[in-house]
Amino acid sequence: MFKKILIANRGEIACRVIRTARRMGINTVAVYSDADRDALHVAMADEAVHIGAPPPRESYLVAERVIDACVQTGAEAVHPGYGFLSENAGFSRLCKENDIVFIGPPEAVICSMGSKSAAKNIMTAAEVPVVPGYHGEDQSDARIKGAAGEIGYPVLLKAVAGGGGKGMRVVRSVAEFDEACASARREAASSFGSDDLLVEKYLPRPRHVEFQVFCDRHGHAVYLFERDCSVQRRHQKVIEEAPAPGMSPELRRQMGQAAVKAAQAIDYEGAGTVEFLLDQDGSFYFMEMNTRLQVEHPVTEMITGLDLVEWQLRIASGEVLPLLQDELSITGHAFEARIYAEDPDHDFLPATGTLSYLQPPEENRHVRVDTGVLQGDEVSVYYDPMIAKLIVWDENRERALVRLATALSEYRISGVTTNISFLYNLATSKPFIAGEVDTAFIETHRGLLFHDSETDRVQDLPLASLYLLLRMEQAARARASSTDPWSPWNASNAWRLNEAARHSGAIVLNGTEYEVPVEEIGSGSKRRFRISVGAKSVMATGELRGNELYADIDGYRRRVVVVPHDGLFTLFTEQGAMQFSLAQADYGEEDLASGAGVFIAPMNGVVVKLLVEAGTAVRKDQAVIVMEAMKMEHTLCAPADGLVREFYFQPGDPVDGGALLLDFV
Ligand code: ADP
Repeated sequence: MFKKILIANRGEIACRVIRTARRMGINTVAVYSDADRDALHVAMADEAVHIGAPPPRESYLVAERVIDACVQTGAEAVHPGYGFLSENAGFSRLCKENDIVFIGPPEAVICSMGSKSAAKNIMTAAEVPVVPGYHGEDQSDARIKGAAGEIGYPVLLKAVAGGGGKGMRVVRSVAEFDEACASARREAASSFGSDDLLVEKYLPRPRHVEFQVFCDRHGHAVYLFERDCSVQRRHQKVIEEAPAPGMSPELRRQMGQAAVKAAQAIDYEGAGTVEFLLDQDGSFYFMEMNTRLQVEHPVTEMITGLDLVEWQLRIASGEVLPLLQDELSITGHAFEARIYAEDPDHDFLPATGTLSYLQPPEENRHVRVDTGVLQGDEVSVYYDPMIAKLIVWDENRERALVRLATALSEYRISGVTTNISFLYNLATSKPFIAGEVDTAFIETHRGLLFHDSETDRVQDLPLASLYLLLRMEQAARARASSTDPWSPWNASNAWRLNEAARHSGAIVLNGTEYEVPVEEIGSGSKRRFRISVGAKSVMATGELRGNELYADIDGYRRRVVVVPHDGLFTLFTEQGAMQFSLAQADYGEEDLASGAGVFIAPMNGVVVKLLVEAGTAVRKDQAVIVMEAMKMEHTLCAPADGLVREFYFQPGDPVDGGALLLDFV
């Protein structure tokens, strides 16, 4: 086994590889650009070498610099991760020339699979089914157009050297062909330096099912079952799962054997993924082979209990495969959701910014978070906007999906727009729960996933309103305790003589403003709110505990999660996620905005210590609670003599800015 390896990558995958290497007693070397001086992967590695400026072409993609870093540090092998140099045949060759082991397949294999056309020719020869199409030498527009006619529309044009969905165009009729062809060529040329295209039958609603394979140098090959990656946006994966829903053992065996055959046809070595399109009638077609570790490999690890990076390292160092086919089995079900800095409402446009607050859900046997960023890090324009991979496992699909939704609602990110609400909507949507996945899933279920129907919005307004009212009440209570607790001017109920307390205000839900008048009825523990939305009104009461709202609306009680971030609130319910904010109101807007109360968290942070016990009488200026935010500790003291009745958070709990920390009277 190697003593020292270099990881020619950054972010979560570099951290992921370092973790396994460390466990195996292998020293690690990181490489970094100027933008990554303080990055997590650099901090985690035993050694790190600076390799250039932020743009990848000036650092992570410069093969010679990576080789120099190996020579300088004495690393015996290079793990390329995914992306960057991972499928670069020239880099694999350069490693060999310098007596450095490339943790991946040999140059020739990368070359043949790097061309979608060459790959298809090899697979056809090996009798692995491929999508009907033309992937030949003659690159004239006329030849490709002729082939499209023979195949029958709709067809799909793909860049021969392509990847990442670039250079791909669906052509629905001959009339669209010329324009689509020209634009696919342009995109292919600018992305891959070659405008060669292939054309194939476009399957309207296939599933993307891929098989993980492993081969060693000693002639052994196995498949580690499948992953379903059908749910995609812009032909790119968003949520992956293993095993594929509804996969029969027989089809799994057939596809798995075809995948192994595909790998053996090219004398494969190491970890690889054979991607198939699975049609509705159960027929499957080879699409391409990725000659590296995939982003979504953790779901395979969760259902097999194996560490795929460990397998890669063992095979690259010349060992035989740790297990044979009949020693492998599937346990339970796993999902991976990719948490991206992007805006689903604007065609998933990548977002940038500073991660001003970052609190992933707690990791345990069921929840795993693979990430390469820390609070305070920048999501820059230079690199992939993926913030983390959230991976969950449970005994079956249904339970794993509940874990996924819960973990998503516990993910706290401020400072950049993310796809968390969108993922949550996906994970809680009926067709996804039913396993009805295919590559057109997002388009087909737009209404469900973006919650843009009017009824969806309106039904959540009373919850949003109740939350704002209770939050205002907390803030007001905190403020009151800071001066005269008994002054009516500090009371949160819109205090009036001889009339029911009324609040008027508007809530903005998904960009639309709604008037939501509220009447306060009764007092003390019997106090309720009559919340009106249009002509309908409901009676609501509830309680706020940290991020949890315990609501009772017309007798229907439930617990929902509401997370404040960046001036907005996200409400997570079984029906999906919804964002709202306060438009203008006498709802106690001031209290919310100013955070005037003493025991209100000044910003997002973590509770460090409780300095007194709940139920303790404290004196003015006595220190009560310590919280940490932006790497600094803040001690909050009693504003007057009083009683600490209850703490709403415990040491270690994350706290959102503006949250009331304790009950003080
Ligand atoms: P890339 O290498 O650019 O990611 P792929 O060939 O892997 O491109 O295809 C990406 C996605 O495009 C697939 O996962 C699938 O959703 C869709 N796709 C590819 N080929 C077809 C086809 N023939 N019919 C329908 N969808 C396809």
